[in-house]
Amino acid sequence: MTKSEQLFEKAKTLIPGGVNSPVRAFRAVGGNPLFIKSANGAYLFDEDGNRYIELINSWGPMILGHAFEPVEEAVREAIQHSFSFGAPTRKEVEMAELIVEMVPSVEKVRMVNSGTEATMAAIRVARGFTGRDKLIKFEGCYHGHGDSFLIAAGSGAITMGTPDSPGVTRATALDTLTAPYNDLGAVEKLINANANQIAAVILEPVVGNMGCVLPDPGFLQGLRDLCDKNDILLIFDEVMTGFRLAKGGAQERFGVTPDLTTMGKIIGGGMPVGAYGGRKEIMDMVSPAGPVYQAGTLSGNPIAMSAGLAMLRYLNEHPEVYTQLEATGAKLTDGFRNSLLKLGLNFTINHIGSMYTLFMTERPVANFVDAKTADLPLFGRYFQAMLKRGVYLAPSQFESLFLSVALTDQLVDQIVWANEESLKEVVERA
Ligand SMILES: *Cc1c(COP(=O)(O)O)cnc(C)c1O
Repeated sequence: MTKSEQLFEKAKTLIPGGVNSPVRAFRAVGGNPLFIKSANGAYLFDEDGNRYIELINSWGPMILGHAFEPVEEAVREAIQHSFSFGAPTRKEVEMAELIVEMVPSVEKVRMVNSGTEATMAAIRVARGFTGRDKLIKFEGCYHGHGDSFLIAAGSGAITMGTPDSPGVTRATALDTLTAPYNDLGAVEKLINANANQIAAVILEPVVGNMGCVLPDPGFLQGLRDLCDKNDILLIFDEVMTGFRLAKGGAQERFGVTPDLTTMGKIIGGGMPVGAYGGRKEIMDMVSPAGPVYQAGTLSGNPIAMSAGLAMLRYLNEHPEVYTQLEATGAKLTDGFRNSLLKLGLNFTINHIGSMYTLFMTERPVANFVDAKTADLPLFGRYFQAMLKRGVYLAPSQFESLFLSVALTDQLVDQIVWANEESLKEVVERA
């Protein structure tokens, strides 16, 4: 047995499913999860001493590669002054100032400890601000594990939501309405059928959580217009896209301004940090400025702020990071397309900037129904074939991959090679 296998056997007796977040367990791809010991640049090292080029980057945060010196240095400096005070600090002010500078729609911002906390708070604020209860989300979008977001689509756009998970009450589910991504007509129908009851429309402006799915031209602006017409708040969940698709996230890239934005992942530089922010008059609803309660013992933690600040400062001051990521993403996906052509395969590649998904389906993927046409057993074999060749992918078809600046041209060539060989191997076996 490998060390990872031994650890997983033990972990299963102590931790539900052996992991602290479900997708890590490799259930969607088979086999045992690798237990990671360390990481550097573009590489992960597991407990057995194997090295992998990796394309998860902690699900986004490690956009500058692992063990990035300026972030490590900031944390080393910070830990000399105690880990937590439960009182305001200079760093929180600097962090807020930087976020407001970088993210176009944000005038005021509150720090929390995860993306889940950010989205839960954002909808509470939206409900408090509008005095309405209902919420529209999109099938296949993930907004963390808050009760209101664990709602599957009903059959048909107007159907009320039903809970996706035991433990979410029917009453909660009734307030969450769902529409297919990229379907403005479905959203308009929901709004009309629930006149003056919808507090907010929340979405990933580019989806990462059903695999990478792009908004159709006009979709984001169409939502903006519908929300304006009906006094509904538009919330962009930029936990994945924030500070990644551009300095100011998807809202900068697409030029559409949400009322509220939720952030996470990159914002903590690898530490547990989230944030939500937006228009002043909405954010002034939040306690103690206003009546909507939201708090956190470790919110704005000085070590986490130090890591996040160092990360965001670097991104803010080095626009060439984004130029490089665009070039890396283009080179990688061009290489994949060439291989598909060569192998006579017609699989779908969705790509924007430093996010991409290779879908094991010939159908264009614009929403969750499309994504679900992917051949999942084939993806599982492809994942294992890539791992065998030293490339660590997200262990599910329904995830985006995340590129970092640590990926050199040479590493990209290696990934393209591994991809072609893996496809050859698994498609022949299919
Ligand atoms: C990861 C993610 C979340 C949840 O963030 P956590 O830090 O895991 O709680 C919310 N929304 C989106 C879009 C995400 O990708």
